[in-house]
Amino acid sequence: MSPRQKKSELVQISKSPIPAWHQSTEVTTACPLLYVTGTIKGKKKPGGMESARGNQVHRTGSEYASWCAHKEVAMDLEAFDRFARGAGPEAAKILAGMRESYKVDFLHLFATEVPMSLDENFQPTDVFGSLEGTCKDSELPSAYTGVLDALYMFREESKAVIDDLKTHFFPYDPDKYLQGKTYCTFVFQHFPWVNEITFRLIFVRYRNMVRSVSYTRDDLPALIEEIKAARARQVTIHEAYDAGKEIEVYPGPHCLYCPLLSDHSCPIGKYNEYEQLSWEERAKFALWYPIFSKVNNAVMKARVQETGKPIVLKDFNGKIYQFGPVDSEGFVFPLFQATANGIAMDKEGNPSLPIVSLLMDHVHAFPDDTKWLGDLTISSTKLMGPLKSSKSAKTSHRVITKQAIEDTAEKVTKIKFQAKPLEKLPDENEEPDEDGEDSEDNEF
Ligand code: SF4
Repeated sequence: MSPRQKKSELVQISKSPIPAWHQSTEVTTACPLLYVTGTIKGKKKPGGMESARGNQVHRTGSEYASWCAHKEVAMDLEAFDRFARGAGPEAAKILAGMRESYKVDFLHLFATEVPMSLDENFQPTDVFGSLEGTCKDSELPSAYTGVLDALYMFREESKAVIDDLKTHFFPYDPDKYLQGKTYCTFVFQHFPWVNEITFRLIFVRYRNMVRSVSYTRDDLPALIEEIKAARARQVTIHEAYDAGKEIEVYPGPHCLYCPLLSDHSCPIGKYNEYEQLSWEERAKFALWYPIFSKVNNAVMKARVQETGKPIVLKDFNGKIYQFGPVDSEGFVFPLFQATANGIAMDKEGNPSLPIVSLLMDHVHAFPDDTKWLGDLTISSTKLMGPLKSSKSAKTSHRVITKQAIEDTAEKVTKIKFQAKPLEKLPDENEEPDEDGEDSEDNEF
C-alpha cells in the first residue's frame, strides 16, 4: 500500500459516512442538529413503540397481499384476521379500517416489500432478487433507498401502481413528502418500459381512505432534480459536521422525533414551541380555551348589542382591532330554481336545473375533462336536514325519498382533532407482540 493510498484511507475514516437517502432522511434533515444527533451520532430517537407497530402493520399488509396473489383472490378476510392477529393486538386494531375495503389486484401484483436503490447517478444498484433481469445493476454504492410495500404492474398499459400503507391518524396528500416522488423514480429507473406510475397512500385505520398522485416519464427529470436537492442537503450537513462547524437548528413537527426534545437539551428549547408546554398542559389548555372563549364572546357580544358600539383595542405596536359584527358575502349554487310556491319547470315539464344544465354543457364540450365532476357532492346537512323533518302530514311522504337517497349515499370518513371522553385510562404499557427494530424503514 502506497503512502498516498494510506492518506486517502485516513481521510475517509475521519469523515462521517453518508448513509443512503431514505424517506426518513427528509424528516431528520429538516433540522440539521436532529440529523447529526440521531443519524450521525446514533442517539436513539423517541417513539420506538410506534415505529414497531408501523413495521408490523407493513409486514401484515404485504403478507396479506402476497397471500391473496398466491390464492388468486382479491380478498380473504379469514387470512387477513390470521395475519393481523400474528402482528399483535395494537397492529390488529390499526388495520381494522383496511380489513373490509382493501382489495388485492392479484392479476397485476408484481411483488411486495420490494427494496429498491439508486446510485448517485440515479442508476439501479443493489438490484434485489425479484428485480434481477429488469435492469442493469451499476454495482455502485447506494445513494437512495427504500422499500415499496406493494408494486403492481400493468404491462399492456405501460403503467405501474405503488401502494404504501400508512398508520397515521390524519391522512395527508402524497406530494407533501418526497417519498412518492422517490419511489416513482425508483420504478421508472428499474423498469424502462413504464411510462406512468400512480403512488397510493393507504391509510389503514379507515375504510377506503386512499390518497394518490400520478407521474409520467416526462416528469422524471423534475423528480430527479428534487430528490437530488434533498440529497445535497444531507451531504451539506455531513460536511458541516466533519468540518466542526456549528450545526444549525430549526424547530418544527420533526422535533417530535428528536432525542434533544425528550431530554430537554435542545439549544433553542426556551423558544421552541414544541418544548414550552407538556402534553398534559396542552390538553388542559385545549379543554379550557373553547369554554372560556365562548363565554368571553357572549359577554362581548352582549356589550356591543346594548351599547351599539364595537369594542376597540389598540395593541402595544399600535395595531388596532375592532370586535363587533362583521358581514361577509359568500356564494351558494342552487340545484333547482326557486319560485314563490316551489320550483320552476321547463317546457317539457321537468324541473329546471340551471347548474346541472351548465355542467352538462361542459361535459358535452369537454368530454376529456370530467374527472372533477365525479367529486361533486351535496352536503349531508343540506340534503338530509329537510328530509328528516317528516313529522307533519305534508312532510311524511319524504320518508320514502329519504330512504332511497340514503341507499345511494357513499360513506366518507372524516377525521377531526378533538377531545373524546373515555371510560378508563388506556393501557399505556401494552407491548407489541414482536420486537420492533429501529430499522431505516421505520414509519415516520
Ligand atoms: S428539538 Fe431542537 S434540535 Fe431537536 S429537532 Fe427540534 S429544534 Fe432541532
